[in-house]
Amino acid sequence: MKCQKVQSNLIFFIGKELSQEDEEQTKLHLSACDECSMLYRRVNETINFINIERNEKVNPFLFTRINEKIKNSNSREIIPAYYRLAHAFVFALIISAGLAAGILLGTKNAGYFTGLNSKKDKTTETREFTGDFAFNDEEINNNY
Ligand SMILES: [Zn+2]
Repeated sequence: MKCQKVQSNLIFFIGKELSQEDEEQTKLHLSACDECSMLYRRVNETINFINIERNEKVNPFLFTRINEKIKNSNSREIIPAYYRLAHAFVFALIISAGLAAGILLGTKNAGYFTGLNSKKDKTTETREFTGDFAFNDEEINNNY
């Protein structure tokens, strides 16, 4: 087996994923070739180091703390949605109340300016307004 093939198969050799025949040939080559056996040792050490890092125990409270933060961030998103809805509803209510009050005041006092709500008719109102200071066609006709 050539060095290049052995070196490219090292990972599979370490992971015991080679066929029986390839494994035997790789073992044979490693015992004879210094370059490949040195590379094998380095790769093996690196893989062992990675496995140690991977299997290192994580602080059990870390999971609890992260979980708690996730829960809090979720609940923080739900509550403002309701608050925003309530806020919009209250805002709409205030605007509606303001509009209703405005319309009510407008219609109630409209008579004050236009005489629409006045119980007196236009002629009576005009007569009262002009009073004694102006000539009135009806009075003129009645008097003469
Ligand atoms: Zn070799």
